[in-house]
Amino acid sequence: MRNWENNVRRVCPYVPGEQPKDKDIIKLNTNENPYPPAKGVMRVLKDYNADNLRLYPDPSSEELIKALADRYGVKSSQIFVGVGSDDVISMAFMTFFNSDKSVIFPDITYSFYDVWAEVYNIPYKTKPLDENFRINENDYICENGGIIFPNPNAPTGVYESLDKIEKIIKANPDVIVMIDEAYIDFGGESCIPLLKKYDNLLVIQTFSKSRSMAGARIGFAVGNERLIKYLNDVKFSVNSYTMNSLTQKIGVEAVKDESYFKDTTNRIIRTRERAKKKLLELGFIFPDSKSNFIFVSHPNKSASEIFCELKNRKIFVRYWDKPRINNYLRITIGTDKEMDTLFEALEDILSD
Ligand code: PMP
Repeated sequence: MRNWENNVRRVCPYVPGEQPKDKDIIKLNTNENPYPPAKGVMRVLKDYNADNLRLYPDPSSEELIKALADRYGVKSSQIFVGVGSDDVISMAFMTFFNSDKSVIFPDITYSFYDVWAEVYNIPYKTKPLDENFRINENDYICENGGIIFPNPNAPTGVYESLDKIEKIIKANPDVIVMIDEAYIDFGGESCIPLLKKYDNLLVIQTFSKSRSMAGARIGFAVGNERLIKYLNDVKFSVNSYTMNSLTQKIGVEAVKDESYFKDTTNRIIRTRERAKKKLLELGFIFPDSKSNFIFVSHPNKSASEIFCELKNRKIFVRYWDKPRINNYLRITIGTDKEMDTLFEALEDILSD
């Protein structure tokens, strides 16, 4: 080892799902939306004048923030935007999880949380989900340096009621509680209304799933004005121009088209409900999902085998070789046609 390596910040990075180059596959592995973004997004991209790229973007993303504030019924000063919710959550870890006490999150959850904790030297502890992958709210009523979990949870898809979440927020007035609502638009109820009652709550959402814009990288947080100010102070101390100007423009168009948003999220919900029936018929077991994916296991065939066999048939789903979940597959909800191809493949694989 070279001497300079003693001073390197060494981390074990997050591993994103595969993004294969082959266009010929059915891609159900990274919870993307199978439908295109809103028409206004296409229009802006078509008419965009590249000369605009000479200038730096608006560092405070004013127009996008205004559109989000109108949509969610809050003030502009209550919204923070970032380059995907990964950027927003990473900034929030840096800003709010700054104590010697451990931040807490579930043992089975978004696998980026422990990576951010490690890279920012934030102490953390995990709390085990119960055998049905549910959060026990009493686990979160203890001394801690902050709390984060997704609702619905990932990769399980399990949704927790606002009552349960409110109990956790209420019992922790001295720390920030972050609810990662990446998948909330597929049938859950957002806890944004709880912001009226609690100043220690930060709600994080993304355009990557319900707004079909994973490639554009837009995420946002909604919270009390003071929280948003602190987030901005940190952001402007790292990189003022995070979101490019074109992305800000298409983001506005996506937020404005409420009817398209409702239409596509409802289509995904309908396909998901149909998928649940079909997967049950095929003998799969899974916790109920309120997200755009289902976390399944089969009593007769291992998840890793099914994963490989699907891949051989050019159908990509997600598999983690990790304790407690290594016999599960996370299947993203695609179009009805893609799902039918998946069901046929599964039938074939399971009949062997
Ligand atoms: N939170 C959860 C729970 C997720 O599953 C994801 C998607 N990987 C994200 C946040 C980040 O999404 P994005 O950065 O695309 O907004």
